[in-house]
Amino acid sequence: MLPFKLVYADGYDLNLGSHVFPSRKYRLIKEHLLAEGLATSGDFLVPAPCTDEDILRVHFQDYLYKLKTGSLTQAEVLRMEVPYSRELIDACRLAAGGSILAGQCALADGWAANIGGGFHHAYPDHGEGFCIIHDVAVAIRRLQFDKAIEQAMVVDTDVHHGNGTAAIFGGDGTVFTFSIHQENNYPYPKPPSTIDVHLPDGVGDDDYLAILEKHLNRAFQSFSPDILFYVAGADPYREDQLGGLALTIDGLYRRDALVFDYARRHRVPAVITLGGGYARAVADTVHIHIGTILAARDCAQAKAASS
Ligand SMILES: [Zn+2]
Repeated sequence: MLPFKLVYADGYDLNLGSHVFPSRKYRLIKEHLLAEGLATSGDFLVPAPCTDEDILRVHFQDYLYKLKTGSLTQAEVLRMEVPYSRELIDACRLAAGGSILAGQCALADGWAANIGGGFHHAYPDHGEGFCIIHDVAVAIRRLQFDKAIEQAMVVDTDVHHGNGTAAIFGGDGTVFTFSIHQENNYPYPKPPSTIDVHLPDGVGDDDYLAILEKHLNRAFQSFSPDILFYVAGADPYREDQLGGLALTIDGLYRRDALVFDYARRHRVPAVITLGGGYARAVADTVHIHIGTILAARDCAQAKAASS
């Protein structure tokens, strides 16, 4: 049994078949956690889809209309890089509902994980890069609307810059955005986050961790969030097909442990969302995402042991 809730729905699977986006990873993560005895069925919560009202706190009305009616242009669908379907929109609504629920759980328990979400390339008016609805932004806006939080921090360690996050929250002093990513990679352009760490190609574990720690220090010195949303991309992995960094699976666990240690020491509830992961072997992507959940477990238990 885990010391926090896992939010998951079978409907997260976009059923994309042989697409580079391994949407079956969500189900594989759940199955692996249960099969290995790392979690029990009682650890899981099933989210409700987010509402139109939730989406419209982030996205434009005409974009939502196009998503609901299937009236996106061909160019708009190509930019999404996933085929349009009603099921796709249902899955995106579920993922955003999952990030809302995980945020609520984290405020109650200190930690929570959405075994999905992290769709950080979605903009208010369009989707791109496999991201249609910005679940993290929807969750932050909902928690602010409910007056459950005032300020949030988004820490994004996906190998790709969090362009949608930066665009949505740019100029909003209530949300601090942090992205550490490979500079020479999608997306172009990269609108400014509060802190952007543009890494050269091929950075490995030790350099990455030293740079991450330096900039997390800066972030937590300058901002006191009520909640931290973590976009824990598995794609800085050295075997990733869409990434050009060189982290190992152990290095990715240490990355996650570092982020969670900052949250713990600053007493900030932390919400995991998964982000991308395109390893040649899907099992590696699953392993890395599970490592993120275990890093949070280990940090939560270390805290319990020391208090
Ligand atoms: Zn990515």
